[in-house]
Amino acid sequence: MGSLALSRVEVLDQPAPSIAGEVARIAREQLAPLAAGIDDGSVYPAEVLRAFGAVGAWGSHMPLEGPADLRCAIESMAAIGEVCGATAFMAWCQNTLVWYAANSTNLKLARRFGDAFSTGRVLGGTGLSNPMKSFFGIEKLKLKGKKVEGGYIVRGALPWVSNLGPDHYFGTIFEREDDQGTVMFLADCSDPAITLTPCKPFLAMDGTGTYGVQFRDVFVPDELILADPAAPFVKKIRAGFILLQAGMALGVIRDCINIMDEVDSPLGHINRYLPQQPVHFRELAAELEAETMALARDPYNEEETYWRKVIALRLRAGEAGVAAAHAAMLHCGARGYLKSHRAQRRLREAYFVAIVTPATKQLRKMLADA
Ligand SMILES: Cc1cc2nc3c(=O)[nH]c(=O)nc-3n(C[C@H](O)[C@H](O)[C@H](O)COP(=O)(O)OP(=O)(O)OC[C@H]3O[C@@H](n4cnc5c(N)ncnc54)[C@H](O)[C@@H]3O)c2cc1C
Repeated sequence: MGSLALSRVEVLDQPAPSIAGEVARIAREQLAPLAAGIDDGSVYPAEVLRAFGAVGAWGSHMPLEGPADLRCAIESMAAIGEVCGATAFMAWCQNTLVWYAANSTNLKLARRFGDAFSTGRVLGGTGLSNPMKSFFGIEKLKLKGKKVEGGYIVRGALPWVSNLGPDHYFGTIFEREDDQGTVMFLADCSDPAITLTPCKPFLAMDGTGTYGVQFRDVFVPDELILADPAAPFVKKIRAGFILLQAGMALGVIRDCINIMDEVDSPLGHINRYLPQQPVHFRELAAELEAETMALARDPYNEEETYWRKVIALRLRAGEAGVAAAHAAMLHCGARGYLKSHRAQRRLREAYFVAIVTPATKQLRKMLADA
């Protein structure tokens, strides 16, 4: 009896598992066995994405009567990224979709989709690469919309949108044909006028449900409009959009440090001649994490200095990921050159973090123009 009472007290004394802790557990138990299949494109991990949603991974960054805090979402994505970079990217897609719906002033839309997206019951992503490039003068908008009674007719094509499937949604932007600005909306992949075409195989990320998306005169009703006009909305959500990407980078860097540590015992005597050691990346990761978490507390900050810090952090995170993965390859030697070793997967994933919008070159342009 006494020992039973004691064990109950012990159980009650345990701190409640944090969302990021639960996400890390699911990543280790359910995601790790799938990582190789996701990497080679034979698996799209819908069930694991839903399991992450069920423990709160996609809901923690929703604004609560004003402010929003992205720290838990980023920490959870880092835990996923430590196991699988492709799934960390899908996590970012889902979190970004939630971010759009939660910030929309279209309350009907927020009510209809808020819970569905944040619990992972409905999955999806974001097609904002082309708009983000167009807003910074890199390319023209690829989708055009015509105002009609009760909505818009949208046509055009986006070359790559991830975390999609036949019943998924994603947020994107079209330009009005009457030159009255841009509109952000939710695209419903089950609409027969929307076609998803599988992409040619990538270097990595093939299991991310990435498709070319064609809009053939799609009717987008007012109920699916996220923001009209889009410009002020984009200004509101853009720091969150970029900061959430830090989770992917932190996860990849952490596992690259793990990889270097794992080969220390057999190869440390020779690896010590390499200029970059795990200790350097531990310091770098801690610094990036501290900066990320400080910025992530305040994603609606409108100051230019804040925005510049967000861009600079994102640039450093992408570059640090590639550097850590490069170092992990050199530390592993022939072991990491085997297809079956995850070091080469980490390198391919790290390059993706550096090229996904805003890519390294765009970030450098943004800093140069700011
Ligand atoms: C695996 C993968 C997943 C992605 N997922 C998403 C997503 O979910 N949402 C999203 O909005 N964007 C997505 N993207 C796009 C991504 O964010 C970047 O926009 C893209 O990698 C190019 O960025 P960049 O700035 O380097 O542009 P650049 O590569 O310098 O230029 C891009 C432009 O060049 C043209 N182009 C170049 N190569 C090709 C090609 N092979 N086919 C067609 N056009 C081409 C297109 O006009 C394109 O807009 C994805 C890309 C990849 C590779």
